[in-house]
Amino acid sequence: MKPKINACDNILELIGNTPLVKLNKIASSLSGNFYAKVEAFNPGHSSKDRIAHYIIEEAERKGILKQGSTIIETTSGNTGFSIAMVSIIKGYDCILAVSSKSSKDKIDMLRSMGAKVYVCPAHVSADDPRSYYQVAKRLHEETKDSIYINQYFNALNLEAHYNSTGPEIWNQTNGCITHLVACSGTGGTISGTAKYLKEQNPNIKIIGVDAYGSVLKKYHETREFDANEIYPYRIEGLGKNLIPAATDFDVIDIFEKVTDQESAHTAREISKTEGIFVGYTSGAVFQAVKQLSAEGEFNENSNVVVIFPDHGSRYMSKVYSDDWMADQGFFDVESVEEEKAIQY
Ligand code: PMP
Repeated sequence: MKPKINACDNILELIGNTPLVKLNKIASSLSGNFYAKVEAFNPGHSSKDRIAHYIIEEAERKGILKQGSTIIETTSGNTGFSIAMVSIIKGYDCILAVSSKSSKDKIDMLRSMGAKVYVCPAHVSADDPRSYYQVAKRLHEETKDSIYINQYFNALNLEAHYNSTGPEIWNQTNGCITHLVACSGTGGTISGTAKYLKEQNPNIKIIGVDAYGSVLKKYHETREFDANEIYPYRIEGLGKNLIPAATDFDVIDIFEKVTDQESAHTAREISKTEGIFVGYTSGAVFQAVKQLSAEGEFNENSNVVVIFPDHGSRYMSKVYSDDWMADQGFFDVESVEEEKAIQY
């Protein structure tokens, strides 16, 4: 007889059902209650496990994937890691075209998970043949039995969060959530989660976080693509230089823009005050919360859920490197004073 062992069948069973953690010190001077959905608790350490797993299983259900098929994607790193992880368990090959803006840690990590990685220049337009979109498209055309996940234009990205992140947050807050604040990259996380939450209670306010240098906020306000909004910035995974079809702009109430510098300092502050070792975009999301608080967005009855998309270990050579911060000019007098004030 088989012994009764309390174990998962494989690592993929651990995707989703991430904890909601109350934010204490960092939120102590703000009006309202703040809770972080800590997506680093996924086995691939980011929210992207949810979409990789969901999209690949949908393709299997439709009979598109066979043993030995190849899965191709463009990625800032996290989606690639998740696809590589799911591919290992399910027996697929994984090819990733990544931006040269991605950290070396992330690229090395993808290769460690068995993925074949193509590094493409970050500051070229999406239709340039060197861009990671065009490279992925070409590889898809050239590789027999391949699928292209295409997270920016795949409605299943949004659907994955509609079916998991949304219900989890609704249940974890017992329906008491008043605001959701989340980064927008592909927009899958925010719009899938928001769509579910708004169906439960249309009064929940949905706030998207965008980067200076990205077109999303302006597009949300005008429904027009303004190329003048585009310029290089440092935060990986947040904002975009095109309009992703995976974003449902109608379920987002407002966008708030944040800077590279303030987001980096806020990520460091979250780690040091809450003991939650977060990635760069978690800093961005809480930086947006600080700005919105200063504008009077929240009151003592607000129950604000923020999504922390990934883990700080992926940014050791960036946000958590003093040398990198100094090279970016992020250690100006004011921010050094702020950091000193939270030395512990
Ligand atoms: N943060 C990080 C670190 C990411 O990699 C991404 C994905 N690009 C996001 C936030 C934004 O999530 P989404 O693509 O679902 O909008």
